[in-house]
Amino acid sequence: MDSYIKQWHDLILNCNFDNTYKMAWSKALVELSLNINEDTEKETIAFDFGEIAKLCLKYYWNQTIYFDLIQSPSFKKPPEVMTFTKELIKEFFQKKGKVQPVRFERIDFHSLKLEEQYKETVKKIANTLRQDVCWRFKNPNGIAYEIYDLNSNRRIVHFNKQDALKLKEHSDFLFTFINYRWTQMLEGFNYSPRISRKVRAIDEDNIKRSSLKKFHTHLDLMFEDGQRKCFYCNEVIDDTDLSVDHVIPWSYMFSDDLWNLVYCHKEENSQKSNRLPSEEDIIRLENRNILLLDRMEPKSCDYDQLQIAVEKDYVKKFWTSFKGG
Ligand SMILES: [Zn+2]
Repeated sequence: MDSYIKQWHDLILNCNFDNTYKMAWSKALVELSLNINEDTEKETIAFDFGEIAKLCLKYYWNQTIYFDLIQSPSFKKPPEVMTFTKELIKEFFQKKGKVQPVRFERIDFHSLKLEEQYKETVKKIANTLRQDVCWRFKNPNGIAYEIYDLNSNRRIVHFNKQDALKLKEHSDFLFTFINYRWTQMLEGFNYSPRISRKVRAIDEDNIKRSSLKKFHTHLDLMFEDGQRKCFYCNEVIDDTDLSVDHVIPWSYMFSDDLWNLVYCHKEENSQKSNRLPSEEDIIRLENRNILLLDRMEPKSCDYDQLQIAVEKDYVKKFWTSFKGG
């Protein structure tokens, strides 16, 4: 391995698991290196803390708005960058008046009249990076790694052109390695399932919510008279008002499983978002699953999966971890 990249490798590998700042910091530097033109005449490459902070905000925004991932082991005192990010997300939802998540890259803060709040958030994140992250990252356990220079007031990071171009050249490896370590940290802080898939899906901009229509055949087995009823209010649902809902939220499960799906009124579905299901809902879902299993044709993949879910008590287990996480 190239000796400069080897230093990055060692720094990323040996990061302590206090929080994920160093992952965001290093990933942002690698991402900025992609913009460098190889033919540049400059001997040093400079990255501004504002630009770095914007990328960190992007990572935290996307991980939070879709999956609400926790970024440190301390539940009572979350990292301040997360507090800043969540405040901005909250203001975004208030402006939008709805709760559908949107990727950071697609948001126009100016037209939402949130530009001031956005700039303020970037400034605060840059400040945290300046105080806590930029120098710590390259000085683990008192050993200095000369991978970049910080100017005296820590507003700019300087690289030799050759070094910066190495970051660009090895960016695929570095992104993969940083995500791998970041995922390991998140697995220590979060109870939620499928964390590596979540991290990857965010990175690849591949968070698809597929149609749940294919589950209708199974769910209809619960309504022998053809009148579909809402799981939550037990009223009959008109076809135009029908939706399939994840009882334990999709954002937590990141998966469509028959054992977790019910019919409900569209209105209730869009209102509830990440609401915690009540114990009563959970008990009714468990009973529904036993009954549904009884009515399904055995020897299908869906049947087998539902059977495993019932036997292993997935409803209660995932609900308990969702509550705790
Ligand atoms: Zn209803």
